[in-house]
Amino acid sequence: MDLTSYAELAVQLVNMGNELKDPFSLRALLEETGRTEAAARLTRRDIDALCELRDELAGVFASAADGDDADAVERLNGLLVRHPVHPQISGHDGQPWHLHLTEGGRVADALAVGSVMGLASVVTRLGVDRLGICQASPCRNAYLDTSSNRSRRYCSERCASRANVAAYRARKRGA
Ligand SMILES: [Zn+2]
Ligand SMILES: [Zn+2]
Repeated sequence: MDLTSYAELAVQLVNMGNELKDPFSLRALLEETGRTEAAARLTRRDIDALCELRDELAGVFASAADGDDADAVERLNGLLVRHPVHPQISGHDGQPWHLHLTEGGRVADALAVGSVMGLASVVTRLGVDRLGICQASPCRNAYLDTSSNRSRRYCSERCASRANVAAYRARKRGA
């Protein structure tokens, strides 16, 4: 399992907002990210559970963006308790033996374990400040800062250029 890709999934779940309630949107996201088996097994109950998870993950990003590391970590620790890992060694498709964090069970559980472990891995390897909220208001999308100089402030190129245009106009008005 690639934990960074699961940390990205956490970001994608948070940023789906209410679209997460739409099974077609969530199924499309899972398929786009190579999780076709999960997409096929997705149920209404999974979606309800993932909506709750989304709110909790959003809380982690909000605390991290506020610079409240202790609160972000406390929230993640709470999620780790509620979504315990059941690791299994797996070998398939000609790959060497590797760890799967969750086997079988519900789709929502597998995605929750992955997202939470993904964020825990980013926080412990790179730092809480790698989790952020887009600075181009009114956008409140979450992002993962994997840049080498921790310079990321926006969720997307689109928001970055929107913020640049706004700053340029503000400077012009001020001049
Ligand atoms: Zn595998
Ligand atoms: Zn944004």
